Amino acid sequence: VGVFFRPVEKINSVIETYPKGIAGFRRYTELLDTEPDIVDRPGAREVSGLSGEIRYEGVRFGYADGRPVLDGIDLHIRPGETVAFVGPSGAGKTTLCSLLPRFYEVAGGRITIDGIDVRDMTLASLRGQIGIVQQDVFLFGGTIRENIAYGRLEASEAEILEAARRARLDGVIAALPEGLDTVIGERGVKLSGGQKQRLAIARIFLKNPPILILDEATSALDTETERAIQESLRELSEGRTSLVIAHRLATIRDADRIVVVDAGRVVEQGRHGELLGQGGVYSRLAAVQRAG
Ligand code: ATP
Repeated sequence: VGVFFRPVEKINSVIETYPKGIAGFRRYTELLDTEPDIVDRPGAREVSGLSGEIRYEGVRFGYADGRPVLDGIDLHIRPGETVAFVGPSGAGKTTLCSLLPRFYEVAGGRITIDGIDVRDMTLASLRGQIGIVQQDVFLFGGTIRENIAYGRLEASEAEILEAARRARLDGVIAALPEGLDTVIGERGVKLSGGQKQRLAIARIFLKNPPILILDEATSALDTETERAIQESLRELSEGRTSLVIAHRLATIRDADRIVVVDAGRVVEQGRHGELLGQGGVYSRLAAVQRAG
């Protein structure tokens, strides 16, 4: 638990990211620093090896201004299922996903994983069960090895290399003069956006959590890099319960289930074809995406 001692490290250990600027989980890092209410309950349990069955039961939430953002969310997500959240901007998709690792606390209802209320788990062990991929990659000025192993410091070299391979980062590492021991960041080798993303993905392969939250990139990289990253993300989500804040039609189409969120409520859910046929919010969103 050494990495959880200082607040800033506690935050970073749960943020595995993509560069996007602001948005999404960046807000949470700021909040975590200042949010004193989110702490372990007395008697909170250490969880590990969860299967990743998630339930939202009557979940309500609003930010400090008091306006309701989530207004009675009920969801049952099966272990290993990939659920794509879609809906208009500001509908509450990111907020909904952020309640799972308890970046915020629900105002009503509850969220359980494997039947256990997330508030009854220690924060560190809860977040140890969740990998987050977003556009803002957090890397620190150390070696590639340290950056991949962050969050599982005891990992062996073989495990680190395997994670790098699955994230399609092995070629990059092989081309560097000092391999895994190459220093990156301001005082070392500068990685491209795509390489940073792959490093973030390698980190999660190594951490191997049963649950994944993927805040999908809106801005595309060059096509080849993009394809490689999509490939490793697909592999990453295999066998894990995946919540995807989806922006791309391709991802949405492949999801086991699409959940359409509008104004803080789940308004439709089903597969791509089913929802298209309903002529509701989803079919209108899909029409806009196709046009764009
Ligand atoms: P997008 O597709 O644009 O990312 P979203 O569906 O993910 O949107 P959220 O980011 O969850 O929507 O935002 C839902 C509502 O909550 C919006 O009205 C947003 O302005 C508000 N909101 C989001 N984060 C905060 C925050 N940290 N403080 C106050 N209000 C917030």
